[in-house]
Amino acid sequence: MINLKTYRVLVTPTSFGINDPSLCIELEDEVGEVVYNTTGRPFEADQLIKIIPGFDGYIAGLDAITRDAIFVADRLKVIARYGVGIDKVDLDGAREKGIIVTNTPNANASSVAELTVGLIIALIRQIHVANAATRAGKWPRLHGTSLEGKTVGIFGFGAIGQRVARRLQNFGCKLIAYDPYLDLEVADELKVEVVTKEDIIQTSDILSLHCPAVDETRGMVNSDFLARMKPGSYFINTSRGEILNEVALYEAIQKGHLAGAALDVFSQQPPDPKNPLLNLPQVILTPHMGAHTDSATYQMGWGALQNCLAVLRGEEPPNRVV
Ligand code: NAD
Repeated sequence: MINLKTYRVLVTPTSFGINDPSLCIELEDEVGEVVYNTTGRPFEADQLIKIIPGFDGYIAGLDAITRDAIFVADRLKVIARYGVGIDKVDLDGAREKGIIVTNTPNANASSVAELTVGLIIALIRQIHVANAATRAGKWPRLHGTSLEGKTVGIFGFGAIGQRVARRLQNFGCKLIAYDPYLDLEVADELKVEVVTKEDIIQTSDILSLHCPAVDETRGMVNSDFLARMKPGSYFINTSRGEILNEVALYEAIQKGHLAGAALDVFSQQPPDPKNPLLNLPQVILTPHMGAHTDSATYQMGWGALQNCLAVLRGEEPPNRVV
């Protein structure tokens, strides 16, 4: 019988338990010691390397979980991601070291989809510009674009992409999707037309990214990709910052080829204050907040907790990735 009271757990997501204190209470009751991240930010690789030795369980936010960090983790049995993305975890290292990696699929998908729809509407109606101008005592005649009759391209048709499609059903727009592993039945049910990668790039009035950051997609949205997008179209990224070349996006908007963009994720988080996108009014920027809602933090929290405790008890976790 494993005595969980001998175990120490590191919890780094700063929103863990904020809407539901019973999450922390349950974890603290079960294990010997819980250490929370009080920095307010995900750990960089060098910070994690210093702190990770001596922990048996790890409920992980968006920390840089490098091979070095994994190899200094002398007691670690589980990395329980609080969220779906596992791109910041060195999965090969975890496999070699016998550390189980889990995530919380679907837990934040609705919240990210809601933010995506919000960003699309805010962007094409210039709500951010209107708000700033009205507050400043101006009364501009802003001209917007309607979703009705437009083509929205969903690039990556997984949990979030499908929820975006479901939420856009009643806007009178045409929905198209590209995904190399697409579920045709769901696309059919949601009346989403399945297209090729080239078609989605060239025909979308609004192109929204919902694929993971993997070798195939890192740096994919570069100047060549953007040049093939429809003139006057909009680009939305709530997936991962590494997929986009931000300088190329800046140039595409400056040249007037793209009408605007909305980004929740960046190559560097927070973005460098000198990042030129920060000064473009045609761009809405949000601080990687897709999953920051009451329902997502609740579901990610309980999901990560169950996965972490299952592994510590020697059981199979519900959402094992590695
Ligand atoms: P998911 O795994 O359910 O869906 C991802 C989809 O992308 C899958 O259907 C997959 O087949 C597809 N895909 C894989 N490779 C592709 C490629 N080369 N081109 C196009 N599609 C490809 O994941 P999800 O929950 O829908 O999450 C999607 C993305 O959103 C992930 O990158 C995730 O990290 C990110 N995310 C962001 C936030 C946020 O706060 N902004 C929160 C959660 C997830």
